[in-house]
Amino acid sequence: MTTTEHGPRTDTGFAEPAGTPLSLLLLGQAADPRSERGVECPGDLPAPSDPDLVARALAAKQALGDRVFILGHHYQRDEVVQFADVTGDSFKLARDAANRPDAEYIVFCGVHFMAESADILTADDQQVLLPDLAAGCSMADMATAEQVEQAWDVLQDLGIAERVIPVSYMNSSADIKAFTGKHGGTICTSSNAERALTWAFEQGEQVLFLPDQHLGRNTAVRQLGMSLDDCVLYNPYKPMGGLTADQLRNAKMILWRGHCSVHGRFTKECVDEVRERIPGVNVLVHPECRYEVVESADYVGSTEYIIKTLEAAEPGTKWAVGTELNLVRRVANAHPDKQIVFLDKSVCYCSTMNRIDLPHLVWTLESLVAGKPVNRITVAPDTAALAQAALEQMLALP
Ligand code: SF4
Repeated sequence: MTTTEHGPRTDTGFAEPAGTPLSLLLLGQAADPRSERGVECPGDLPAPSDPDLVARALAAKQALGDRVFILGHHYQRDEVVQFADVTGDSFKLARDAANRPDAEYIVFCGVHFMAESADILTADDQQVLLPDLAAGCSMADMATAEQVEQAWDVLQDLGIAERVIPVSYMNSSADIKAFTGKHGGTICTSSNAERALTWAFEQGEQVLFLPDQHLGRNTAVRQLGMSLDDCVLYNPYKPMGGLTADQLRNAKMILWRGHCSVHGRFTKECVDEVRERIPGVNVLVHPECRYEVVESADYVGSTEYIIKTLEAAEPGTKWAVGTELNLVRRVANAHPDKQIVFLDKSVCYCSTMNRIDLPHLVWTLESLVAGKPVNRITVAPDTAALAQAALEQMLALP
């Protein structure tokens, strides 16, 4: 169970959404019981139209000095990233936080599971704050602790649990990381998923991959040489995941039916369309994209890989990039000598990442100046210990 200073956040185990996307709630208002995204974020937020927001953020940051360390995920808005002490992907940021033991407060401009990881990896006396409690992750929400425990029961009833190694993507809740640690598994990132799976298959015969089916499938098939038939998709809303006993026994990869709602938008048609529109374009995508998208791309890799590839590209080259739009736009602006476009024709921000805006950041920093920290994210000690074991296993990967 994860708690905030406003009380416990429960794992809802909600019924499968009936096709209607969860609506984007107004800043800090109302609650959606199906998702961490809807947790209320009470507070006296400054108006988004306040012309002094930048000056207020600067003043508060200066007043706090080294007591505060601000982390900015690559998918954050420019208005927030300008105040970040470091930027990076979720794991790099959690490690950056752990390397700043003198900072009393870690302000995590990212989403909820990232703040949890930072709390797990930092000292007990450091406080991790998430400027908007409604900044969750739809992928992390797709695997609740209750659902995953039920799936494990299924594997135990079939007598195969002892040969299954859980491998969980960094983009998961602390509860799922703890489940992974409890059952001898490892966490992985999009950079080390191949190493994590190789290690897991040395420990057991099958892998339960949580919660991103696409990263699991892409890594298993493209990097480990498995066939698509070696992978089955476990649907937590169906008895036995919608699979037969033989399917579960024979699969090498049991993929959880989760995905990133941002990267899931890119299709093979997007790739075909951009190749026609921009002759000679290089297509560069994140491995959270669907298998057919990754297969039709020229380059595939993590957020850090995407940034480095674009930095190293020759002037005059053309790139269509399939990842979050804030990042693509920022990299395109930084390299005007290259043509860098977004892979999809329509706008595609991560709506929950975008919940962290300048008013929330100002409110968080000014609350710290006033000696009243808000939105602290804490992970219960028993959950944190098991999750840390899974994270340490990742760090020990050969
Ligand atoms: S981009 Fe996808 S995985 Fe990342 S926080 Fe948004 S929904 Fe979650």
